[in-house]
Amino acid sequence: MSTLPTSPPTGEIPDRYDPSAVEERWYPLWESRGYFRADPVAKGKPFSIVIPPPNVTGSLHWGHALNNTLQDVLVRMKRMDGFNTLWVPGTDHAAIAVHVILERQLAAEGKTKEDLGRERYLERAWKWKEESGGTIVRQLKRLGASCDWTRERFTMDPGLSRAVREVFVRLWDEGLIYRDDYIVNWCPSCQTVLSDIEVEREERDAEFVYIKYGPVTLGTVRPETKLGDTGLAVHPKDKRYKHLVGQTLEVPSVDGTISVRVVADEAVDPDFGTGVIKVTPGHDPVDFEIGRRHNLPIRTVIGFDGKMTAEAGRYAGLDRFECRKRIVEDLKALGLIERIEPYRHAVGVCYRS
Ligand SMILES: [Zn+2]
Repeated sequence: MSTLPTSPPTGEIPDRYDPSAVEERWYPLWESRGYFRADPVAKGKPFSIVIPPPNVTGSLHWGHALNNTLQDVLVRMKRMDGFNTLWVPGTDHAAIAVHVILERQLAAEGKTKEDLGRERYLERAWKWKEESGGTIVRQLKRLGASCDWTRERFTMDPGLSRAVREVFVRLWDEGLIYRDDYIVNWCPSCQTVLSDIEVEREERDAEFVYIKYGPVTLGTVRPETKLGDTGLAVHPKDKRYKHLVGQTLEVPSVDGTISVRVVADEAVDPDFGTGVIKVTPGHDPVDFEIGRRHNLPIRTVIGFDGKMTAEAGRYAGLDRFECRKRIVEDLKALGLIERIEPYRHAVGVCYRS
């Protein structure tokens, strides 16, 4: 049993306030006396906060110090106001972010995750979780966070995983979720979907290639996606192309002809390029939406590995960038390229690889 440090300190009084000495004395006392432990049957209106769980990617930063202090201020104020208060602490597995850290560590040792194999890789991931999670908890305690540590959670605890599955099943049973094809950010190197905030924009020099599509010419920086084109789009008010809207054109391409339906869509900027865009619903977010609005088929010509699929015909198996070069050469040979202009634009890249 610890004693309350209420007696005046003996010996020398430091001439400056020394927070570490004071805090190290108080926090263990608060904890050992259970001041932060919530009791479900205690009096008072309930007030609870579930900590936005920090990722186990190392240690807390200044942003955590700020937002956890704000939570602590709220929780302590409510506790003093007589509320039955609970602040649930925990950490988040942040799978992909942790994955990247582990891969970097392995790379520094000259190894890959494949060298390790699944079992040993997972062992290593759990070991990292213990280290990083331990650091985070120590840091939160040093901040004085008045969390109920008896209720600490990790986002991959069996109970939490079960709750996630339960929620998904209920949503499914109630018809509130569905499964469908959708366009996503995909990193061929990480082999995973990326959220929009995980995509960085990088300025790159490219070629703006003007390709002849039967009666029209249009510009693109990704000529290899031509293999996945299922439509052409123009602005509804663009008089130049009004006569083509609704028609399905058979246009000469690298392998004979392809069929493309001409649609009118507000998403097209009539002042950009020639005012006509090719629609590749499988490989461009804007085109995907246009395709949805006009029921254009989706052709996936680039696979999860960044290589051309069987749908790409004779280009199948080529890396997309190699295919880009090859298709420009082939289109040139067929006289289907009108001109090529230098172009600088922002390309979405993975923030990790
Ligand atoms: Zn990546």
